[in-house]
Amino acid sequence: MIAARIMRYSLPLAFLASTAGFTASAEEVNIYTTREPGLIEPLLKKFTEETGITVNTLFVEQGLAERVASEGDNSPADILMAVDVGNLVDLVDAGVTQPIVSETLDAAVPANLRGADNQWTTLSLRARVLYADKDLDLSSFTYEELADPKWKGKVCIRAGQHPYNTALISAYLTKHGEEATKEWLTNVKANLARKAGGGDRDVARDILGDICDIGPANSYYVGLMRSGKGGEEQVAWGNAIKVILPTFEGGGTHVNISGAAIAKNAPNKDAAVKLLEFLVSEEGQQLYAHANYEYPVKAGVAPDEIIAALGTLNVDSLHLDEIAANRKKASELVDEVGFDG
Ligand code: FE
Repeated sequence: MIAARIMRYSLPLAFLASTAGFTASAEEVNIYTTREPGLIEPLLKKFTEETGITVNTLFVEQGLAERVASEGDNSPADILMAVDVGNLVDLVDAGVTQPIVSETLDAAVPANLRGADNQWTTLSLRARVLYADKDLDLSSFTYEELADPKWKGKVCIRAGQHPYNTALISAYLTKHGEEATKEWLTNVKANLARKAGGGDRDVARDILGDICDIGPANSYYVGLMRSGKGGEEQVAWGNAIKVILPTFEGGGTHVNISGAAIAKNAPNKDAAVKLLEFLVSEEGQQLYAHANYEYPVKAGVAPDEIIAALGTLNVDSLHLDEIAANRKKASELVDEVGFDG
């Protein structure tokens, strides 16, 4: 029995629709995803086993909104999956989504982690945590403190223009306003041990290499490094750091998401809702969040033990739509202060 057919095509739609296996036989649901389908394959298999609904997956690495928009009324897409709230809001802005009507989903996902009118939903969370030298006497941290002059020459970070950082800066902007954010960015830049760049894991690598002491990075990379999935070298990086869940002053920890929307012209809307409900169920959350060391969005579901060991995540209460709305301004501020220069 075919549980999930994973397709990696970047062919014109006409060709894809006629050859790639979107058949009209039994009940099915079609996912367009910007995430590696391998991550969710076991989960989709389980869904098919339980419901008899076939899941077809199309990996669309780039231009998801444009693609669905260009397919128009005839688009076979039911569910659109993406990482980063900005990419989900781009789908809404492109007019290719519709409200997700589901009490199950409303109960499982906090309102600040769902789009206005339920145009998108979170499926899992990644926190922007602090990697710190494991020998450092440090047990709590605020994002505001990244600008403290006591960290001069001690901070490593990837590019300010990377979406992981523009989302964080956008959250800062939403909370503190433009002037304060500009000042913060200027002072964080003054603290950098090296030019902003590379990846999140390079923060851990450079802490091990004594280039810096601290730096913001995503939580799931800790799982990827410490588990050995990234190779022996990365185990050493992962073990050179301790991880602190920073908060905003008077707030919580900044998170970004992986999430999904239902396509505006979804031909299999009911099956799409069923699949999203499965993804936020206890069972679905276990499998989904564990696949990439993410935090489950549903309360009470435990993350992978490597991630659980980092401490309790208190998600900041800002609505993610607000963070997405301030992305552009955040990106402009990054340029204005020459953060990546
Ligand atoms: Fe990443």
